Amino acid sequence: MKEFDFIRHYLQSRELTDANIILGIGDDAAILRPQSGFDWHISTDMMVSGRHFFPDVAPQDLAHKLLAVNLSDMAAMGATPKYALLSAALPDLNNDWLEAFCSAFFAMADNFGVSLIGGDTTQGAGVFNLTIMGQTPTGKGLKRNAAQMGDDIWVSGILGLAAAALASRLQGFRLPENCFAICEEKLLRPMPRVALGQDLLDLAHAAQDISDGLWQDLEHITTASGVGATIFADDLPMLDDLNRHPENLQWALTGGDDYELIFTASADKAKHIQNLSQKHHLPMTRIGKITQGQGVRVLNQHQQEIHFKQKGFNHFEKA
Ligand code: ADP
Ligand code: MG
Repeated sequence: MKEFDFIRHYLQSRELTDANIILGIGDDAAILRPQSGFDWHISTDMMVSGRHFFPDVAPQDLAHKLLAVNLSDMAAMGATPKYALLSAALPDLNNDWLEAFCSAFFAMADNFGVSLIGGDTTQGAGVFNLTIMGQTPTGKGLKRNAAQMGDDIWVSGILGLAAAALASRLQGFRLPENCFAICEEKLLRPMPRVALGQDLLDLAHAAQDISDGLWQDLEHITTASGVGATIFADDLPMLDDLNRHPENLQWALTGGDDYELIFTASADKAKHIQNLSQKHHLPMTRIGKITQGQGVRVLNQHQQEIHFKQKGFNHFEKA
């Protein structure tokens, strides 16, 4: 198949229903009409074969994760995702592979109300880049720099599952039977917390998504906000069945690929935030406090500080 057949057959044939898209795929650029009363959020995330996914990944899983990691950036800011551009460097244009990739991609995009409006296709070693655009009511977007002294720190979901699945694959040990599937699901098909993020617009101060490990990601919030944070390791939401594993706490604190939200809110919002748990079928856990000072301290049940060599994933760190 040729590049243009791919574009015509798989991408351009889809109907666009969004009234703000003046022009979609097929010209030199898409045209969008901005909506008054909203701010744009635009971000991009790249996935590289052998680094972000195993080269033999199922095309459906790759499509899911590519969208999920980008949607998660929108969720982190409380933004409603709207448009995406997909750039792909593929070794070849294989019909079956593209069919599977595109049907999974568009199924998920439809679920989240995202329209594909452009992209680029070239030959290469397996690099996928998605640019995503979303919107929030003017001035409302959640940012990393808005944590306030005395705020509670919250996380959604359960931490460390993807890290457990990855460690099990790379180090070749078996996870307990009953949690293997849930950890694998989290690694391969994380669910971005988009609806939760939107509900946090009026509740949270600072927010971000956890992609490179809670500890490291929370430090982005403390640095940007000029505050410190204390986390209570005992309060972290972890899977009971993994508790026997000695590395479980490390997975929860420093493992990548959680795609949960971490946010701060004043203490009087606690009831509201707990109520979101039922609405979103998702644990909401208060794990610590914003303090004076700087950096993130993690305390064990004896109030002693815990230290790990690494606080999260770092791409250019030398082994
Ligand atoms: P140009 O050479 O002008 O950059 P292209 O031939 O690269 O145009 O692309 C033609 C049209 O197809 C453009 O509208 C572009 O946005 C779209 N397109 C190309 N590849 C993709 C892709 N992987 N996903 C979505 N749209 C794509
Ligand atoms: Mg192009």
